[in-house]
Amino acid sequence: MDQVHIFFFPMMAHGHMIPTLDMAKLFVYRGARATVITTPLNVPYLTKAIQKINHLGIEIAVRAITFPAAEAGLPDGCERMDQLSSDDLVPKFFKATALLQEPLENLLQECRPNALVADMFFPWATDAAAKFGIPRLVFHGIGYFALCATENVRAYKPHKNVSSDLEPFLVPGLPHEIYLTRSQLSLHDREDSETYMTKLLREVKESESRSYGVIVNSVYELEPEYAEYYTKVLGKRAWHIGPLLLCNTKIEEKARREKRTTLSPPSSEERHEILKWLDTKKPSSVIYVCFGSMSHFIPSQLHEIAVGLEASGQQFIWVVRKDDKDQENEEWLPEGYEERVRGKGMIVRGWAPQVLILDHEATGAFVTHCGWNSTLEGICAGVPMVTWPMFAEQFYNEKLLTTVLKVGVEVGAKQWSRVTADVKGEAVAQAVVRVMVGEEAEGFRSRARSLKEKALNAIEPGGSSYSALNALLKELSTAK
Ligand code: UDP
Repeated sequence: MDQVHIFFFPMMAHGHMIPTLDMAKLFVYRGARATVITTPLNVPYLTKAIQKINHLGIEIAVRAITFPAAEAGLPDGCERMDQLSSDDLVPKFFKATALLQEPLENLLQECRPNALVADMFFPWATDAAAKFGIPRLVFHGIGYFALCATENVRAYKPHKNVSSDLEPFLVPGLPHEIYLTRSQLSLHDREDSETYMTKLLREVKESESRSYGVIVNSVYELEPEYAEYYTKVLGKRAWHIGPLLLCNTKIEEKARREKRTTLSPPSSEERHEILKWLDTKKPSSVIYVCFGSMSHFIPSQLHEIAVGLEASGQQFIWVVRKDDKDQENEEWLPEGYEERVRGKGMIVRGWAPQVLILDHEATGAFVTHCGWNSTLEGICAGVPMVTWPMFAEQFYNEKLLTTVLKVGVEVGAKQWSRVTADVKGEAVAQAVVRVMVGEEAEGFRSRARSLKEKALNAIEPGGSSYSALNALLKELSTAK
């Protein structure tokens, strides 16, 4: 059988590039060839990540295509979504990505891969691939639950039947009773008027219906009713091959066992200082607080988080994005705060090694914005979660964690927004205590651990994700 060659083209954003790269590794590990497409400024990030796995014999090619930032009215050097300083720039960013169709076609013509796995936000990729008879697979980067819920909200518009933004409505048709409010829906799902985003989402849906199918970074056993609903009721072709991050660990472990690597565990000097700090803590005694790569807080909200974490009495690691610091003065930080919490709480400014922190036995729970990667990382670490959704499909992920899987509690976020401002310190403290202390916390923890087991089993030979990828690779090899 000829080696299958797959093109992977992620949206230029951390939350999309991280799982796509994991997916490329997984495909290579299972015998395929992989090329990841990106724009020049994102190349160093990808090549650095790929270099780290060279010793495992996993080679992934990276090809760059020029990003027309200036042509679309974006600041020079803006090639990743988390660099967008305001929501007004989002349409411009999408406009620039649409201009990538032609250079993508040139690459497809040159390399003739067996398939193109392209981000959902690139609807034009279906046509690009079709020109060369290449199957296009869609990668949404979200789970089955959110895919189903979004589809039904858009189809039935249940939010039209409520009289206020805060009155709950039932999302129709789903296997569970899921209630949301209009304020928790994105602006483009809430409003009737035609915007750039509503048009793009229509194109996404239409191009998906003409694509070869959908790759889902999830596990059947995690959301079985929704995997069935998505394929049987909504009629999609889908392959669930996740959790992609676990496949990653698996590849490392197996390589170590087979001595294909000379990599030794990092020495204590190389070990990240956060992990060294966690080494000094008791099992399940620290709560990790992080809101992904794209969310923003106003200073008063950062203040409420600080107050809430201290009031919870729990040990914590809190990641504050550098641009949330309110310039250099950090006036939102209560007077003498870091002195008071020294040894008990740690504020990390910038980027934290999230997966390693979550996997550390001292980490007992996770306050998360419910980005799908963070959600899966929490599930794979077997920790309960405090859910604090902000934007994208995060309010749906919250319902999966709290109402369906029952591994977390809601902090009480009410408003869909990239800039969050509506949660009081008291609510933070209460939610943190509920997932860390007492009988209820034990229940969350034991269900979270059993989910972790399910996720681990899925990627073993014969497991659901393992088998789904086998089936897909077989199809793609014959599609050639
Ligand atoms: N992440 C990290 N360190 C940080 C912040 C984020 O490693 O300090 C990683 C996190 O582990 C996850 C990704 O960035 O893999 C964020 O993706 P997610 O889908 O959760 O949220 P987004 O950033 O897309 O909103």
